[in-house]
Amino acid sequence: MSREILPVADKAQVRAYARRLMVKYPRRLSAALALHGLAALSGLAGPALLGGLVQDVADGARDVNVSVIALAIAGFVAAQAVLTRFAVFASSRLGERVLAELREEFVDRVLALPLSTVERAGSGDLITRTSRDVDALSRTVRHAVPEILIALVTGVFMVGALFVVGGPLMAVPSLLAVPLIWISTRWYLNRSGPAYLREGAAYATLTEGLAQTVEGARTVEALGLEDRRRDRTDEDIRGSYAAERYSLSLRTVWFPAVEMGYVIPVVATLFIGGLFYTQDWVTVYQVTAGTLYIQQLVDPLDRLLSWIDELQVGSASMARLLGVANVPDDRAPSGATPDGDAIKAEDVRYAYREGHDVLHGIDLDVRPGERLAMVGPSGAGKSTLGRLLAGIHGPRTGTVTVGGASLVELPLGELRGQVALVTQEHHVFKGTLRDNVLIGRPEADDDAVRQALEAVDAWEWAEKLGLDAEVGSGGVSVSPAQAQQLALARLVLADPHTLVLDEATSLIDPRQARHLERSLAAVLDGRTVIAIAHRLYTAHDADRVAVVEDGRISELGSHEELVEAGGPYAALWDSWRR
Ligand code: ADP
Repeated sequence: MSREILPVADKAQVRAYARRLMVKYPRRLSAALALHGLAALSGLAGPALLGGLVQDVADGARDVNVSVIALAIAGFVAAQAVLTRFAVFASSRLGERVLAELREEFVDRVLALPLSTVERAGSGDLITRTSRDVDALSRTVRHAVPEILIALVTGVFMVGALFVVGGPLMAVPSLLAVPLIWISTRWYLNRSGPAYLREGAAYATLTEGLAQTVEGARTVEALGLEDRRRDRTDEDIRGSYAAERYSLSLRTVWFPAVEMGYVIPVVATLFIGGLFYTQDWVTVYQVTAGTLYIQQLVDPLDRLLSWIDELQVGSASMARLLGVANVPDDRAPSGATPDGDAIKAEDVRYAYREGHDVLHGIDLDVRPGERLAMVGPSGAGKSTLGRLLAGIHGPRTGTVTVGGASLVELPLGELRGQVALVTQEHHVFKGTLRDNVLIGRPEADDDAVRQALEAVDAWEWAEKLGLDAEVGSGGVSVSPAQAQQLALARLVLADPHTLVLDEATSLIDPRQARHLERSLAAVLDGRTVIAIAHRLYTAHDADRVAVVEDGRISELGSHEELVEAGGPYAALWDSWRR
């Protein structure tokens, strides 16, 4: 199922951004370019010196000192090597710096994404963007951009030298190759993008099919599906083969055309230059130097062409990375401040997909300090309502307020101090134990961290590890129950007056459950709790029970009242008890 919720930036946006990046460090960029330029300049000396030598010999000069010229050429080559080394160093440093900033900017963007978008988009797209696209972009920034810059600088100098030393006339023969290279490259680039996409898609299908066969091997055997699976694999291989063959066939056209494009100018310059010489339009010196320049031009041109493909891949990734910033913010802090702790939902409707409301006009007054349980059949909308009451989504119409202020008008930090959603998901971030708790309230001191850990009964093990212990991936491993305690300690630190509990303890290891339930109880103590109850005894212990059915609250009252009333809750309770 395609869940492309996250937008992709358009071409103009990518171009503007790339331009801004290029000129962000003008001094470093000009230094790198100047070094590349100097290296290219040193490379220009060889052909000119050789051309002079040939000219002298042709003129019959007797006092030609070949050793001096050879030494000079060697000197320039050495200078070029040294300059190139520094030039590559300078441009790599610049590239790495730009890349680091790109990454940081992207992380900021992702973190600023509206929660509702993250929830709806699912993690797949974001993970692809943070891994594959960042990798692709790194390759482009690290390799393609410097290579293309070097090729451009070198190419420009070569052409300049060709005009200055060889004369404009010597540049004419190489023009023969321009249409060939231009047309074949355009032809190729227009087709290669879609062809690579097709290759990727065919490969993905093949992998997916194989993985399914392997994962479902027992089922395949049990139902005698071997032939069908084999046929499917064969077909996928055929698809993949056809896709690879197609892009290969594109390259079999482009490569020879371009290679011809490299050779033609050299031959043409030599041949036509010779003709020009017989007409006395140019000197031997010009023909020699010009031909050598043309031959040297092949290298930058080849680099340019081979990295252009990569540049396309990089710009596609950049479009996806920049696109993340195009998600409109779903919270608009209005400066409203809550007056009191009461959470109130009024005529709330919500739709994940336009035109398909899953909540149909919910009114709910949560009394400060009460335990409210939400029960009802699966898919009735309890979790959705829970997320709305925790301010994660804004309602499509209607309002959810705390102390009269709309939840989506509170800044995120402020909101988390009012109401928080507790789910069974808990994550230990890479960093120190202290950092992991401080997420709840970054400015808290060690004393507060200790108290929070004590409150959830985690201080004993936390003290043993030490607040400076590195946890998370690569650090000290923390058990799931401990991870959950850390999450609860964060909550204690953030200190919201209301908690929305969604299946908070259902996945916990039973051996740890008792312990954790105590931690949880400590956190819940003194707060308003809205519990999405999957076990009816939670409802039994609650002050009030809201029965959610088909996106509506069909019953609301205490356990006793509802049992008395003999409605849907009474029926549920009855069947649960039996
Ligand atoms: P409950 O918590 O009572 O089981 P939910 O709030 O999870 O119910 O779901 C209510 C309705 O909203 C269901 O029809 C469900 O399919 C739909 N729904 C829930 N989450 C999403 C989502 N992320 N995208 C689209 N539809 C969703």
